[in-house]
Amino acid sequence: LAIKIAVASGKGGTGKTTVVTNLALAIGDTKKVVVGDCDVEEPNSHIFIGADMKKVKDVSLLVPRIDENLCDLCGECVKACEYHALALIGDRVMFFEELCSGCGGCALVCPQRAITEVERPIGTVRRGVSDKKPLADPQKGGAGGVVLIDGVLNVGEARATPVIKEVKRTAEKEGRDVIIYDAPPGTSCPVIETLSGADFVLLVTEPTPFGLHDLKLAVDVVKKMGLRFGVVINKDGLGYGGLEEYLSEEKIPVLLRIPHSEKTASMYSMGTALVETDEKWKKEFAGLYEKTVALSNAGDGMKREVV
Ligand code: SF4
Ligand code: SF4
Repeated sequence: LAIKIAVASGKGGTGKTTVVTNLALAIGDTKKVVVGDCDVEEPNSHIFIGADMKKVKDVSLLVPRIDENLCDLCGECVKACEYHALALIGDRVMFFEELCSGCGGCALVCPQRAITEVERPIGTVRRGVSDKKPLADPQKGGAGGVVLIDGVLNVGEARATPVIKEVKRTAEKEGRDVIIYDAPPGTSCPVIETLSGADFVLLVTEPTPFGLHDLKLAVDVVKKMGLRFGVVINKDGLGYGGLEEYLSEEKIPVLLRIPHSEKTASMYSMGTALVETDEKWKKEFAGLYEKTVALSNAGDGMKREVV
Protein backbone atom coordinates (compact mmCIF):
# COMPACT_ATOMS: atom_id res chain seq x y z
CA LEU A 1 0.00 0.00 0.00
CA ALA A 2 1.59 3.26 -1.13
CA ILE A 3 1.60 6.31 1.11
CA LYS A 4 0.16 9.36 -0.64
CA ILE A 5 1.58 12.72 0.40
CA ALA A 6 0.18 15.91 -1.13
CA VAL A 7 2.13 19.17 -0.99
CA ALA A 8 0.04 22.33 -1.26
CA SER A 9 0.15 26.03 -0.51
CA GLY A 10 -2.50 28.71 -0.40
CA LYS A 11 -0.61 30.73 -2.98
CA GLY A 12 2.07 30.38 -5.62
CA GLY A 13 5.75 31.11 -5.09
CA THR A 14 5.98 29.75 -1.53
CA GLY A 15 8.44 26.97 -2.35
CA LYS A 16 5.95 24.13 -2.85
CA THR A 17 7.92 22.60 -5.72
CA THR A 18 11.13 22.93 -3.66
CA VAL A 19 9.55 20.75 -0.98
CA VAL A 20 8.17 18.19 -3.47
CA THR A 21 11.39 17.72 -5.39
CA ASN A 22 13.75 17.70 -2.40
CA LEU A 23 11.52 15.25 -0.54
CA ALA A 24 11.43 12.91 -3.55
CA LEU A 25 15.18 13.11 -4.19
CA ALA A 26 16.05 12.73 -0.48
CA ILE A 27 14.23 9.39 -0.16
CA GLY A 28 14.69 8.20 -3.75
CA ASP A 29 17.88 6.20 -2.99
CA THR A 30 16.07 3.49 -1.12
CA LYS A 31 12.36 3.99 -1.80
CA LYS A 32 10.39 3.66 -4.99
CA VAL A 33 8.96 7.14 -5.43
CA VAL A 34 6.59 8.65 -7.95
CA VAL A 35 5.92 12.37 -8.09
CA GLY A 36 2.63 13.48 -9.63
CA ASP A 37 2.92 17.10 -10.69
CA CYS A 38 -0.70 18.29 -10.66
CA ASP A 39 0.19 21.94 -11.22
CA VAL A 40 -0.96 21.41 -14.80
CA GLU A 41 -0.94 25.07 -15.82
CA GLU A 42 2.73 25.33 -15.00
CA PRO A 43 4.36 21.95 -14.37
CA ASN A 44 7.99 22.55 -13.39
CA SER A 45 8.99 19.65 -11.09
CA HIS A 46 10.83 18.04 -14.03
CA ILE A 47 13.44 20.83 -13.99
CA PHE A 48 14.52 20.01 -10.43
CA ILE A 49 13.94 16.26 -10.60
CA GLY A 50 15.97 16.11 -13.81
CA ALA A 51 13.54 14.10 -15.93
CA ASP A 52 13.17 14.09 -19.69
CA MET A 53 9.39 14.08 -20.09
CA LYS A 54 7.64 12.11 -22.85
CA LYS A 55 3.95 12.21 -23.63
CA VAL A 56 2.12 9.05 -22.57
CA LYS A 57 -1.47 10.03 -23.25
CA ASP A 58 -3.84 12.75 -24.39
CA VAL A 59 -6.60 13.86 -22.06
CA SER A 60 -9.94 14.64 -23.70
CA LEU A 61 -13.45 15.58 -22.64
CA LEU A 62 -16.46 13.98 -24.32
CA VAL A 63 -18.51 16.92 -25.58
CA PRO A 64 -21.79 17.00 -27.51
CA ARG A 65 -22.14 17.32 -31.27
CA ILE A 66 -25.69 18.09 -32.38
CA ASP A 67 -27.07 16.79 -35.65
CA GLU A 68 -29.24 19.68 -36.82
CA ASN A 69 -31.15 17.38 -39.17
CA LEU A 70 -32.42 15.35 -36.22
CA CYS A 71 -32.82 18.18 -33.67
CA ASP A 72 -36.41 19.51 -33.33
CA LEU A 73 -35.37 22.33 -30.97
CA CYS A 74 -37.28 20.88 -27.99
CA GLY A 75 -34.81 22.49 -25.57
CA GLU A 76 -34.47 19.44 -23.26
CA CYS A 77 -30.67 19.46 -23.53
CA VAL A 78 -30.54 23.16 -22.63
CA LYS A 79 -32.64 22.52 -19.50
CA ALA A 80 -30.48 19.54 -18.53
CA CYS A 81 -27.15 21.36 -18.78
CA GLU A 82 -26.19 22.60 -15.32
CA TYR A 83 -23.14 24.34 -16.73
CA HIS A 84 -25.06 26.59 -19.15
CA ALA A 85 -22.99 25.29 -22.03
CA LEU A 86 -26.06 24.99 -24.29
CA ALA A 87 -28.52 27.72 -25.31
CA LEU A 88 -31.49 27.78 -27.67
CA ILE A 89 -30.99 30.86 -29.82
CA GLY A 90 -33.33 31.37 -32.76
CA ASP A 91 -33.53 28.13 -34.74
CA ARG A 92 -30.29 26.64 -33.37
CA VAL A 93 -28.86 25.07 -30.24
CA MET A 94 -25.60 26.90 -29.55
CA PHE A 95 -22.76 25.10 -27.77
CA PHE A 96 -20.19 26.95 -25.65
CA GLU A 97 -17.42 24.38 -25.35
CA GLU A 98 -15.35 26.19 -22.72
CA LEU A 99 -18.29 25.85 -20.27
CA CYS A 100 -18.87 22.14 -20.92
CA SER A 101 -17.75 19.70 -18.21
CA GLY A 102 -18.23 16.65 -20.42
CA CYS A 103 -20.89 15.21 -18.08
CA GLY A 104 -22.86 13.59 -20.92
CA GLY A 105 -26.24 14.69 -19.50
CA CYS A 106 -27.44 16.36 -22.70
CA ALA A 107 -26.91 13.25 -24.83
CA LEU A 108 -28.86 11.20 -22.28
CA VAL A 109 -31.96 13.41 -22.30
CA CYS A 110 -32.20 14.15 -26.03
CA PRO A 111 -35.47 12.53 -27.21
CA GLN A 112 -34.40 12.69 -30.87
CA ARG A 113 -30.98 11.10 -30.31
CA ALA A 114 -29.57 14.09 -32.12
CA ILE A 115 -26.52 14.32 -29.82
CA THR A 116 -23.38 12.26 -30.23
CA GLU A 117 -20.34 12.66 -27.99
CA VAL A 118 -17.00 13.57 -29.53
CA GLU A 119 -13.57 13.93 -27.95
CA ARG A 120 -12.18 17.38 -27.33
CA PRO A 121 -8.46 17.31 -26.35
CA ILE A 122 -7.70 19.50 -23.34
CA GLY A 123 -4.20 18.40 -22.31
CA THR A 124 -1.60 15.66 -22.03
CA VAL A 125 0.01 13.44 -19.42
CA ARG A 126 3.78 12.91 -19.55
CA ARG A 127 6.20 10.52 -17.86
CA GLY A 128 9.89 10.71 -17.11
CA VAL A 129 12.52 9.18 -14.81
CA SER A 130 14.89 11.29 -12.72
CA ASP A 131 18.46 11.27 -13.98
CA LYS A 132 19.47 12.25 -10.43
CA LYS A 133 17.72 9.17 -8.94
CA PRO A 134 17.41 6.65 -11.79
CA LEU A 135 15.39 3.48 -11.28
CA ALA A 136 17.29 0.84 -9.36
CA ASP A 137 18.23 -2.36 -11.14
CA PRO A 138 16.11 -5.13 -9.58
CA GLN A 139 18.79 -7.67 -10.58
CA LYS A 140 21.18 -5.91 -8.23
CA GLY A 141 18.63 -5.80 -5.43
CA GLY A 142 18.12 -2.02 -5.54
CA ALA A 143 14.83 -0.43 -4.57
CA GLY A 144 15.06 3.29 -5.30
CA GLY A 145 14.41 5.72 -8.08
CA VAL A 146 12.09 8.63 -8.80
CA VAL A 147 9.47 8.51 -11.55
CA LEU A 148 7.73 11.74 -12.50
CA ILE A 149 4.26 11.98 -13.99
CA ASP A 150 2.99 15.42 -14.92
CA GLY A 151 0.07 16.97 -16.75
CA VAL A 152 0.09 19.81 -19.23
CA LEU A 153 -3.11 21.75 -19.79
CA ASN A 154 -3.53 23.05 -23.35
CA VAL A 155 -3.02 26.80 -23.72
CA GLY A 156 -6.25 28.73 -23.11
CA GLU A 157 -7.97 25.69 -21.57
CA ALA A 158 -9.76 26.27 -18.26
CA ARG A 159 -10.66 22.72 -17.17
CA ALA A 160 -7.67 21.48 -15.17
CA THR A 161 -9.49 18.84 -13.11
CA PRO A 162 -9.76 16.07 -15.76
CA VAL A 163 -6.03 16.40 -16.50
CA ILE A 164 -5.23 16.21 -12.77
CA LYS A 165 -7.40 13.10 -12.39
CA GLU A 166 -5.46 11.45 -15.21
CA VAL A 167 -2.09 12.43 -13.67
CA LYS A 168 -3.18 10.79 -10.39
CA ARG A 169 -4.51 7.68 -12.10
CA THR A 170 -1.29 7.29 -14.09
CA ALA A 171 0.93 7.90 -11.03
CA GLU A 172 -0.99 5.37 -8.95
CA LYS A 173 -0.66 2.73 -11.66
CA GLU A 174 3.15 2.99 -11.42
CA GLY A 175 2.99 0.75 -8.33
CA ARG A 176 5.58 2.76 -6.32
CA ASP A 177 5.84 2.85 -2.49
CA VAL A 178 5.56 6.62 -2.08
CA ILE A 179 3.38 8.97 -4.12
CA ILE A 180 4.04 12.70 -3.75
CA TYR A 181 1.54 15.07 -5.34
CA ASP A 182 2.46 18.65 -6.18
CA ALA A 183 -0.84 20.56 -5.95
CA PRO A 184 -1.63 23.70 -7.95
CA PRO A 185 -1.53 26.96 -5.94
CA GLY A 186 -4.73 28.25 -4.34
CA THR A 187 -7.73 26.50 -2.82
CA SER A 188 -10.04 25.92 -5.81
CA CYS A 189 -11.41 22.70 -7.42
CA PRO A 190 -8.05 21.59 -8.95
CA VAL A 191 -6.47 21.73 -5.46
CA ILE A 192 -9.31 19.76 -3.91
CA GLU A 193 -9.02 17.15 -6.69
CA THR A 194 -5.27 16.84 -6.02
CA LEU A 195 -5.68 16.51 -2.23
CA SER A 196 -8.54 14.03 -2.26
CA GLY A 197 -7.41 10.62 -1.06
CA ALA A 198 -4.10 11.90 0.38
CA ASP A 199 -2.83 10.24 3.58
CA PHE A 200 -1.16 13.48 4.62
CA VAL A 201 -0.92 17.06 3.37
CA LEU A 202 2.16 19.24 3.74
CA LEU A 203 1.17 22.91 3.59
CA VAL A 204 4.05 25.13 2.54
CA THR A 205 3.97 28.71 3.73
CA GLU A 206 6.22 31.68 4.42
CA PRO A 207 6.32 34.02 7.41
CA THR A 208 4.63 37.06 5.88
CA PRO A 209 1.11 38.52 6.38
CA PHE A 210 0.16 37.28 2.87
CA GLY A 211 1.60 33.85 3.59
CA LEU A 212 -0.44 33.61 6.80
CA HIS A 213 -3.62 34.79 5.08
CA ASP A 214 -3.32 32.14 2.37
CA LEU A 215 -2.27 29.44 4.83
CA LYS A 216 -5.47 30.01 6.83
CA LEU A 217 -7.53 29.43 3.66
CA ALA A 218 -5.58 26.24 2.89
CA VAL A 219 -5.99 24.98 6.49
CA ASP A 220 -9.71 25.57 6.19
CA VAL A 221 -9.85 23.40 3.06
CA VAL A 222 -7.84 20.48 4.47
CA LYS A 223 -9.85 20.53 7.71
CA LYS A 224 -13.12 20.44 5.77
CA MET A 225 -11.76 17.52 3.75
CA GLY A 226 -10.86 15.72 7.00
CA LEU A 227 -7.20 15.34 6.01
CA ARG A 228 -4.20 15.17 8.31
CA PHE A 229 -1.71 17.94 7.74
CA GLY A 230 1.39 19.77 8.91
CA VAL A 231 3.32 22.85 7.85
CA VAL A 232 6.66 23.50 6.20
CA ILE A 233 7.92 27.06 6.64
CA ASN A 234 9.93 28.34 3.71
CA LYS A 235 12.02 31.54 3.96
CA ASP A 236 12.06 31.04 7.73
CA GLY A 237 13.51 33.98 9.64
CA LEU A 238 11.86 36.83 7.72
CA GLY A 239 10.87 38.24 11.08
CA TYR A 240 7.04 38.16 10.96
CA GLY A 241 5.70 36.70 14.21
CA GLY A 242 2.02 36.36 13.25
CA LEU A 243 2.56 32.98 11.60
CA GLU A 244 4.13 31.40 14.69
CA GLU A 245 1.33 32.73 16.90
CA TYR A 246 -1.32 31.25 14.61
CA LEU A 247 0.43 27.87 14.39
CA SER A 248 0.83 27.54 18.14
CA GLU A 249 -2.75 28.69 18.83
CA GLU A 250 -4.10 26.15 16.34
CA LYS A 251 -1.62 23.46 17.48
CA ILE A 252 -0.48 22.85 13.90
CA PRO A 253 2.83 20.98 13.75
CA VAL A 254 5.77 22.58 11.93
CA LEU A 255 7.63 19.70 10.29
CA LEU A 256 10.46 21.58 8.57
CA ARG A 257 11.91 25.07 8.38
CA ILE A 258 13.88 26.19 5.31
CA PRO A 259 15.78 29.36 6.17
CA HIS A 260 15.59 32.48 4.08
CA SER A 261 18.94 32.71 2.33
CA GLU A 262 20.50 33.92 -0.90
CA LYS A 263 22.06 30.50 -1.40
CA THR A 264 18.72 28.65 -1.47
CA ALA A 265 17.20 31.31 -3.76
CA SER A 266 20.07 31.09 -6.24
CA MET A 267 20.00 27.27 -6.23
CA TYR A 268 16.30 27.42 -7.01
CA SER A 269 16.89 29.82 -9.91
CA MET A 270 19.49 27.40 -11.33
CA GLY A 271 17.17 24.38 -11.09
CA THR A 272 19.34 22.72 -8.41
CA ALA A 273 17.74 20.84 -5.53
CA LEU A 274 19.02 21.53 -2.00
CA VAL A 275 19.58 17.83 -1.31
CA GLU A 276 21.93 17.54 -4.28
CA THR A 277 24.67 19.64 -2.79
CA ASP A 278 24.18 19.43 0.94
CA GLU A 279 24.08 16.25 3.03
CA LYS A 280 22.43 18.21 5.85
CA TRP A 281 19.41 18.91 3.65
CA LYS A 282 19.20 15.32 2.55
CA LYS A 283 18.88 14.34 6.23
CA GLU A 284 16.36 17.13 6.89
CA PHE A 285 14.09 16.03 4.04
CA ALA A 286 14.47 12.35 4.91
CA GLY A 287 13.41 13.39 8.44
CA LEU A 288 10.43 15.25 6.97
CA TYR A 289 9.35 12.01 5.29
CA GLU A 290 9.66 10.04 8.54
CA LYS A 291 7.57 12.63 10.43
CA THR A 292 4.97 12.62 7.67
CA VAL A 293 4.66 8.84 7.78
CA ALA A 294 4.37 8.89 11.58
CA LEU A 295 1.68 11.59 11.58
CA SER A 296 -0.28 9.98 8.78
CA ASN A 297 -0.55 6.90 10.97
CA ALA A 298 -1.59 8.82 14.04
CA GLY A 299 -4.81 7.48 15.49
CA ASP A 300 -5.88 5.22 12.64
CA GLY A 301 -4.60 2.09 14.33
CA MET A 302 -2.95 0.90 11.14
CA LYS A 303 0.81 1.06 11.36
CA ARG A 304 2.18 1.71 7.94
CA GLU A 305 5.52 0.18 7.20
CA VAL A 306 8.30 2.67 6.59
CA VAL A 307 9.96 1.05 3.60
S1 SF4 B 1 -21.93 17.31 -21.67
FE1 SF4 B 1 -22.85 18.12 -19.79
S2 SF4 B 1 -21.88 20.11 -19.51
FE2 SF4 B 1 -21.50 19.52 -21.65
S3 SF4 B 1 -23.15 20.45 -22.76
FE3 SF4 B 1 -23.83 18.39 -22.26
S4 SF4 B 1 -24.96 18.60 -20.32
FE4 SF4 B 1 -23.77 20.49 -20.63
S1 SF4 C 1 -32.63 17.73 -26.70
FE1 SF4 C 1 -32.04 17.02 -28.74
S2 SF4 C 1 -33.75 17.55 -30.00
FE2 SF4 C 1 -34.00 18.72 -28.15
S3 SF4 C 1 -32.98 20.67 -28.55
FE3 SF4 C 1 -31.45 19.36 -27.66
S4 SF4 C 1 -30.43 18.40 -29.38
FE4 SF4 C 1 -32.35 19.25 -30.15
